[in-house]
Amino acid sequence: MQISKTDAQVTFLEPREDDKSINRITHIINQQNELKHKQVSDVLKYISNNSVCKSIQLLTYFGEKNIKDCGICSVCIERKNKKKPTADFKTIKNAIITKLEETDCSSRTLTETLDFAETDIHNAIKLLLEHQIITITHTNTYKLSHL
Ligand SMILES: [Zn+2]
Repeated sequence: MQISKTDAQVTFLEPREDDKSINRITHIINQQNELKHKQVSDVLKYISNNSVCKSIQLLTYFGEKNIKDCGICSVCIERKNKKKPTADFKTIKNAIITKLEETDCSSRTLTETLDFAETDIHNAIKLLLEHQIITITHTNTYKLSHL
């Protein structure tokens, strides 16, 4: 087949695909489109769902059941910080000291075992360090200075 209405000329070496040959693959393309749509909407759902633990969302997506909150994703952290009312510094300080009287603790152990907001605990640790009430050990745990 040849077209030469202008000075440029196109020669098709193969016969053009007609409806019959295209129709054979349209349903596959449609299926793939639907799948892509679903995948994108699933990702959007995952990003915007801030009420269920991200880890649970992911694992549920892959068919896992009976999963616990991971405790470390953005949703879990947010929930943890919300749940804990901001306590006054003295209360947190005393809790940390009581804890360290039992044993040396890393800051992670402190935030995990004490029922205060993580940022409050970190601030309290900083102040306790500055006032040399606690010191940091070579294994990165905190201990009471006078012990
Ligand atoms: Zn989580």
